[in-house]
Amino acid sequence: MNTREKREINRMHLCLPSLSVNEGVARGAVSVFCAQADPAVTQLSDIKCAVSEAVTNCIVHAYRGTVGMIYITAILYADGVRVIVKDKGCGIADVRRAREPLYTTDAANERSGMGFTVMESFMDRLAVHSRPGKGTVVVMSKRFEKAAVKE
Ligand code: ATP
Ligand code: MG
Repeated sequence: MNTREKREINRMHLCLPSLSVNEGVARGAVSVFCAQADPAVTQLSDIKCAVSEAVTNCIVHAYRGTVGMIYITAILYADGVRVIVKDKGCGIADVRRAREPLYTTDAANERSGMGFTVMESFMDRLAVHSRPGKGTVVVMSKRFEKAAVKE
């Protein structure tokens, strides 16, 4: 995204408790929000998968056994979208390690440790910021094939 194209066109803030039903709610809401840009079906599907992984992580890891809030922001630019998924849960001690394919702290529940890998491969950019005991912020961006947004 260059400076001119980075102009913000629309923004959505969503705040949901970490109930498993809200994985689908978040995925659907971000999908509807992105649809205004008329992205390719495959791109929309990629974004939905990435959001699903990020929100599921908040539900199963950040607030494991408790319910906390998940804060989702989606920002639409002329040429793409940025999605930020934030929690105030347990945090991640070693983000670099957590991002490695097949790394999971929850193998007992048959998790495969592929969530971050999915986010990374389905989006163009992924950044993960975390502080143990404070929470985690996942920032991911995807550029649309064509800038179809009407400004
Ligand atoms: P899968 O996503 O394949 O079901 P997974 O959730 O374990 O398995 P990743 O999504 O790649 O795999 O996450 C890797 C690890 O990072 C998790 O096992 C967990 O320890 C940690 N983690 C990820 N997101 C969070 C979060 N929001 N809060 C706390 N820990 C997290
Ligand atoms: Mg995961």
